[in-house]
Order: sequence, then C-alpha cells, then structure tokens
Amino acid sequence: MSDLPYIALARKWRPRQFSEVIGQNPVILALSHAITRGRLHHAYVFSGSRGVGKTSLARIFAKCIICNNKGFEIYSTCCDICSTCQDIAASRAFDVMEIDGASHNGVDAIRELRDIAQYIPSSGKRIFIIDEAHMLSGAAFNALLKILEEPPPHVLFIFATTEVHKLPATVLSRCQHFACRQVGEDAIGMRLEQILKAEEVIYEQATIPLLARAAAGSMRDALSLLDQVLALSPDLVSIDALRESIGLLDSTMLLQILEAIFDRKPRIALDTARTIIRSGVDIKLFTESLMSFLHAIVLAKIGGTERSLLEHEQKECGRIANKRPLEEMELMFQVLAHGLTWMTRSAQQGIILEMLLIKCAAAESLLMVGNTPPPQDTEPFIQDLQSRDPHLAAVINQAARIELQGGLLTMAFPSNTQSLKTHIESRGMMKELLLAAKTHFGPETRLDIHFDATDPSRALKKHQHIQQKQAQMIDEAQKHPLLVEALALFGGQLGSIELKPTS
Ligand SMILES: [Zn+2]
Repeated sequence: MSDLPYIALARKWRPRQFSEVIGQNPVILALSHAITRGRLHHAYVFSGSRGVGKTSLARIFAKCIICNNKGFEIYSTCCDICSTCQDIAASRAFDVMEIDGASHNGVDAIRELRDIAQYIPSSGKRIFIIDEAHMLSGAAFNALLKILEEPPPHVLFIFATTEVHKLPATVLSRCQHFACRQVGEDAIGMRLEQILKAEEVIYEQATIPLLARAAAGSMRDALSLLDQVLALSPDLVSIDALRESIGLLDSTMLLQILEAIFDRKPRIALDTARTIIRSGVDIKLFTESLMSFLHAIVLAKIGGTERSLLEHEQKECGRIANKRPLEEMELMFQVLAHGLTWMTRSAQQGIILEMLLIKCAAAESLLMVGNTPPPQDTEPFIQDLQSRDPHLAAVINQAARIELQGGLLTMAFPSNTQSLKTHIESRGMMKELLLAAKTHFGPETRLDIHFDATDPSRALKKHQHIQQKQAQMIDEAQKHPLLVEALALFGGQLGSIELKPTS
C-alpha cells in the first residue's frame, strides 16, 4: 500500500476514454461518428439510470471535441494528457462548463449560462454539461429554450438525466437523445476483475458475480461496493468479507428461505429471515434478492437459466422449482413486488417482510380465492323443478336467494320462516333437495341451506315485482296523450283499467 491519500475506486477508475466506458457501445459509436464526420448537433440528452456512465460519457465527448491534440491518434479519441483534457476531466475547464441541475435549477443559473454562451472561447467550442437536467425549474427550461431555438454555432449542450420523461417536449425535440443502458452483470464482472488485477488485490472468483449482481446495472455502484469491502479487508476480497462489509446476502440462506416457502413452512422461512436481518442487512435489499432468486426459480421452471447464478445455485433453483406450479410462483412474485413498494413508505419493514413471507407460503390458497368461479344461473334449475316436482319448487320459491358457486348450492330462506324450516328439516326434504340439485348440476354438488336472510322470499319478490309493473302500466296508460285528450273533450271519468296478460 502506498502512502498516497486513498482515492475512491469509482473516481480513480472513472473512464477517461470512450474505450473505457463499458456497456454503452451504441451510444459511443454514434458519438464517435458525429465527431469523425464533423456532424455535431448542438444539443444532446444522455438518459439512463444512475451510475451507468452518463456524466463520464459527456466529459469524454467534450474532451474529444476540443482536445488540443486531436488528430494525434484517431480522431474520435482524446489525448487525455493535454491541459484541456486534464481540465475537463477535473471539471475546471473554461470552455466546458458543468452545471448541477439539482442545485442550480433556477432561472438565474440559466441567464448566467446564456451570457457566457455569447463569448466564443479559444477552443472554438463552448460546451455546457447540465447534470440532473430534469431538476431544472419550468422557468429555467423556458430561458433555456430561447438559446436552444437559435443556438450560437459555437455552443453545444449535453443534458444528463435519470428521468428523461421530465424534460419538456419542447426541449427534448431540439436535442439528440441517447439512452444509456444498464450495464450487464457480465460486463461489470469483467471490469471489476480488470481493476482488481491492476490494483493487485487478491480476490475469490465467486465474489465477482455477487458484486456484479448487487451493483444492479451500475458500474459506479459496483466500485463503491468494492471500496466498502476493501475498507474492511484490504488484502483479500472474499465471500466472508463481502458478507461482513456490505451485508451481501448469502445465496444459500436466500434459497433456504424460498425452499421453506415452497414447502409451506413459513415458520422456518421467518426464522431464517430474522437471522439474516439481525445481521444488519437492509430489508429492502433482502427482499429484492429474494425476488431475484424467485425469478431464477421461475426461469428454471420454464427451462431457462439465470446467467448470473453460479452452477450450484442454478441446480438448487431447478430443484426448488419442482415443488410448486408456475401460477403460484407468479403470485409470490407479485406479493413480494407489491410489498417492496409498501416498504418504501413504511418504517415497519421487518413486519412487512414477515407478512410477505407468510403470504407467499400460502400462495396456493390465495390463488384459490382469486380463481373462485363466478356464480351460476340457478333459474333453469328452478324452472326444471317446477315441471318435475311442483311441491319442491314451491318450497324453494320461499327462499330469498338461491345461488350456485363452485359446486355449492346455497339457499337462503328469510329468517321469519320458522315453520318452513321445520318442514324442510323434518320430512327428508333435505335429501330430496340435494338429489334434485345433483341431478341438475352434477353429482359433486353440495347443498347449504340457512334461515337468516333479511330480504323477502323469491315468491314474494316476484309478486311485488308484478304489482309494481302493473301500477306502472296503469299510470302510463292514464297519461297517454290520446286518453288525456279524450277525457278533456268528453269530460268523462276513467273507469278501471284491466291489464291483459301479454302472451
Ligand atoms: Zn487532449
């Protein structure tokens, strides 16, 4: 170890050339073409999640455009040694101005920028890199729009943002937009190994995919995590050091929890989870890791593989996948994903996690609830009974409701039909009803009769309905314009109106 002050790996290994930026080849290719063909646009947007290299790309792009020694090698690179390159890398160049949109989001910052933009710098280009551009205020964007509409030829804007949808369409439409992708785990792993070798640090091979996975697509996060590990264990990056320093989750324990869930043993899942959480692991990170492994198990179920897993983890996933059907796994995933958003709003993350694990273990019954078939029409059954056994039909017409759901025929009789209750229960009528139900709906049909309905019987409802309808028809007939006119003409009175049954 040298005596030099320690520089964070993410800073020390920040890419200085396009060739050092990983995972963004399409963007780099397009930018290089723009430089070599002299077809520079006046405004660019680099979007993408945090840590994927947007600001690094912006600085390298700026260096390539105004490096003193360009043409020294290939045109779309910079020398990285001249004072301009050095100044840009250290964000102190005169011609390249970096603005943090989060802290300088007001209109004043943009007015100042507009003033500066008027002067032609010595390099012939003035480049503005606006980081976190989505944080600019509406007034700031409006001020910016004026200069974007008619930019001086020597000015070039680069907006970096994690939330491109927050940029006004008027601004976005005047920019060339490049979406930076999340960096793949393989690429992160390779870069980590390069850096570890260059730093002469010994590492256990198995730590690389774990770190790459934990970085979740961000090279900067990968290096920050590595920094944390090295702070604790400067000479060796080992699985133990990973677990100790960044609470990186042991796949064995995660798979144990998932297996307990798949075995319907929530108790074991909870105990293991509590052990992990007591060790100080971030509960959200823990839940996310559970989801990644559940995802791997789902993949195994459909014959695919999760490439970032180690071989023995893959095998375990395949074994566990046999324990439950796919629909239940999908439901578990939904439960966890839902719980994760819930966690972000709560201080009770531990409790939420426990509830989620219990819920996942019960995925089967949740699925049954979700899949309850809709109620079936029972009217044809009653009609059928009317012709075959009028007595029985008359009895069930005393029910307030007759419903069939999932093979269960429920008859709810009004609570005031005590004599009917005795009647049904005494004379083997239950048997007759069940037989009739089975004959109509199939041999699996079950019967449930209860006497607690608060609404009137079907027969009474039907009667009330007919009465209402008749009253309505008489009312309409009386208001008929012809009749009203006739009455007015002859001064007569309206006799009783008879309703003829419709055919
Ligand atoms: Zn240079």
